[in-house]
Amino acid sequence: MRIRILVSALLFAFSQVEAADQLIRLPSTQEMEAVTKGKLDKLPTQEEAKERAKEHPPASAASVPASASASMHASVPASASAKSEAAASQHGEAKTAPETKPVAESKPAVKFEPASPKASASVSASASAHASGSAKAKAKATDEDELDAEQIAARISKKLEELRKQRLANFSKAPKKKKVSHKSTKDAHAGKVHNHWGYAGEEGPEHWGKLNPAWAACETGTRQSPIDIREGIRVELERISFDYKSTRFNVLDNGHTIQVNMGVGNAITLSGRTYELVQFHFHRPSEERINGKSFPMVAHFVHKDAQNRLAVVALLIDEGANNDVVQTVWNNLPLEKNDPLIAQVALDIEKILPARRDYYTYMGSLTTPPCSEGVLWLVMKEPIQMSAAQMAIFSRLYPMNARPIQNVSGRMIKESN
Ligand SMILES: [Zn+2]
Repeated sequence: MRIRILVSALLFAFSQVEAADQLIRLPSTQEMEAVTKGKLDKLPTQEEAKERAKEHPPASAASVPASASASMHASVPASASAKSEAAASQHGEAKTAPETKPVAESKPAVKFEPASPKASASVSASASAHASGSAKAKAKATDEDELDAEQIAARISKKLEELRKQRLANFSKAPKKKKVSHKSTKDAHAGKVHNHWGYAGEEGPEHWGKLNPAWAACETGTRQSPIDIREGIRVELERISFDYKSTRFNVLDNGHTIQVNMGVGNAITLSGRTYELVQFHFHRPSEERINGKSFPMVAHFVHKDAQNRLAVVALLIDEGANNDVVQTVWNNLPLEKNDPLIAQVALDIEKILPARRDYYTYMGSLTTPPCSEGVLWLVMKEPIQMSAAQMAIFSRLYPMNARPIQNVSGRMIKESN
């Protein structure tokens, strides 16, 4: 009888412990977290896609929401890399799911182990919990009245020992997985951080190359933009043929600048190549310098040819007369970041071009992460103008959004005679 009580007491204790262990084990939050972080993992690509969209968005301007939501990524896997990333992530999730089950019991214990001494309790508790199952079965099969308390205790402790060993064995397997999930968690966290960049502090231009491996060119590239344009080779440069017309547009505040996404139909032609205007945006002060001189602002007109080669026309901006094109853009500033405002009027962008069309040209890069190179830069020599009031509007939003000048590294600069 005494034994029976002892056994049921033990079994009760085990079942309680098991229940507790189940509670501790509930992996749902962690799994959710992993899933969420898995999504965050995708973000670099999303950001990349966003940047790509920014610098070479699709023809339809309205489809460039540059939203930071992860869902957008799923719905717009624009690039092959985005797809593979998504696939990789899915793989990761899929991998997590089946693996979670077999190591589920060790996983929480591992997780909780460093957190508190309860962990080890939970380890043995959980082991005991499993002992309870077999002990229970055995207890039923045997005439427990014939066993004395010592025998039962010995049997239980033996079983416990076995289970501890088993659990330890699981642990040694688990760290591998744990490390992986920890790493991915870390990466996801890092990825989250690294998807943000700015113009000052830890996310400033001097850190861009380290913030995200995809942005390494920002640090290691040798043909980066902007540059201080000086000592260009004066030649008779081919005229840039501008085919700009009145076009519908939307205005996006992407968190780094005000960007005007243009409808189709505007292009430049140079060296037999036609580049379609995709968008233009502003920097304050000008990113490029001419013989050391910077300008209050600059507008970058981003064009892309059929082979996705980029050509950016830079219009330096001086303070002066009111600018009608800029005013139309400012009239349509969106209220929220990453939520483009579709203008109900057209933009006659030809009017923004300077009268003189001579220019400097060199090969450079995007001036924002990922700092991709191979960009043909066409910097118009004659600055355009914008009124002080119009500049003030921009500087309220972006007082400083210019990347510092980069090394020329012996690059050829040509300029119109
Ligand atoms: Zn720019």
